[in-house]
Amino acid sequence: MKNATVNKEDLKRKLFINGEWVVGEEHAALFSPYSQEKIADIPQATSYQIEEAINAAYSVREIMASMPSYKRAEILENLSSLLKKNEQKAAEIIALEAAKPLKTALGEVARTIETYKFAAEEAKRIHGETIPMDAAINGENRIGFTSREPIGVVGAITPFNFPMNLVAHKVGPAIASGNTIVLKPASQTPLSAYFLAELLEEAGLPKGALNVVTGSGRIVGDQLIKSDKVKMITFTGSPEVGISIRNKAGLKKVTLELGSNAGVIVDKDTDLEKIIPRCIMGAFSNQGQVCISLQRIYVHEEIYEQFKNRFISATEKLVCGDPLNMETEVSALISPQDVDRSLQWIREAVAEGAEVGIGGKTEGNVLLPTVMLKAKQHMKVSCQEVFAPIVLINPISSVKEGIKLINDSKYGLQAGIFTTDIQTALKTAKELHVGGVLINDVPTYRVDHMPYGGVKDSGTGREGIRYAIEEMTELKLVIFNQD
Ligand code: NAP
Repeated sequence: MKNATVNKEDLKRKLFINGEWVVGEEHAALFSPYSQEKIADIPQATSYQIEEAINAAYSVREIMASMPSYKRAEILENLSSLLKKNEQKAAEIIALEAAKPLKTALGEVARTIETYKFAAEEAKRIHGETIPMDAAINGENRIGFTSREPIGVVGAITPFNFPMNLVAHKVGPAIASGNTIVLKPASQTPLSAYFLAELLEEAGLPKGALNVVTGSGRIVGDQLIKSDKVKMITFTGSPEVGISIRNKAGLKKVTLELGSNAGVIVDKDTDLEKIIPRCIMGAFSNQGQVCISLQRIYVHEEIYEQFKNRFISATEKLVCGDPLNMETEVSALISPQDVDRSLQWIREAVAEGAEVGIGGKTEGNVLLPTVMLKAKQHMKVSCQEVFAPIVLINPISSVKEGIKLINDSKYGLQAGIFTTDIQTALKTAKELHVGGVLINDVPTYRVDHMPYGGVKDSGTGREGIRYAIEEMTELKLVIFNQD
């Protein structure tokens, strides 16, 4: 095990407003989800401080909007390099505040470095198009073209489960497209957001272009949503909060990246040897606290027994424990309440006839990886987002039945199918009602430049740098009359 280099002495943290580190008036203690030890005191921004942050972002918006794209790209390149230099420290921060196993946290940092690199590259290719005006009878002798303009101040509200990379999915495209940001990170994971602010200061971002305000989601969130100076809210988090934001936002632009109960279909011709490790990763990576975590596995009845037995024996081998230990694969859930909720959902399912194939128990705040069998569609472990290391495996008589079961959900983020039949693959891709279909992979797959987002209660709008830039810019049309 490597020793953490995070300095635990100076526990009191500060807000980052207008390029200054600002002392908070009130603080909330931040505890490690794994050890329950206090790791920091986090300032709870007052209404005045939130307003200061919004004003700072508002007043610098023209500087950012007029900054040439090569300079915006340079800042993002610098940030990417600084993060690379501080890779280990960044991963330890994530492991400490989110109990993400260090190995997985290092993976998240590597992705974050790439996300900011993509943002640097995309900053240079934001462009419009020419419009053939003379295609209309009244369009002769006119030249038309479009351009994309920054929206202004972006309010970014982020979740705990990928505290660096999901912040990058908002901060990266916002800077790339010349916007300014007020960032409200999840209360459990503010340290990585402060660390980002430190790095961006060093990377050369103008003062006020990024502000980090911590505090209760409802209080900070409401103020961002209500402010006329904030032109867009980009939110990643739970459907309940997402829907409440949408209801309050009026005409403000809103993108929502919400949850799911992602499923995969395993067709009868599948090579199990190859797919079991993918399914294990999909179900248990980051303790199942991933928006596209594999929660429902529907296996053709001809290979069901074989799949189930192999999956359970692979689950048994997972290493559970301290997130700062490089060997650990599954660690603590984000809070003791989430442990209780998960156990309750398992008990409810068992009371109604489901069986626990393995797991269903805890060691401290670690819920051991759990496989549910015979779970019915209406049970919470199936129809709600479990956000815990719990996966169900059920037999199906055909791919058609699998598609029906996956679509029978209020969510629709990503879904997958394993099959060797091309017609089955393409037909399934067409019929699944989700934002992204993975053929021959689990739904738990994402690289950071692909379009990403859901349908139904999984959200609206798309991320993936280029797609987020589209959301964060306004299309302007210019028509030049040559007569
Ligand atoms: P959450 O409880 O919804 O919190 C997300 C953020 O919203 C936090 O910063 C939170 O602040 C803030 N918030 C809470 N109440 C608010 C309110 N009334 N108004 C405005 N903001 C408010 O979600 P989480 O537990 O951190 O994250 C897990 C959820 O995120 C899961 O549902 C998961 O599927 C989803 N997720 C989706 C994606 C995707 O890309 N689709 C990616 C990752 C996660 P506090 O922390 O201070 O409460």
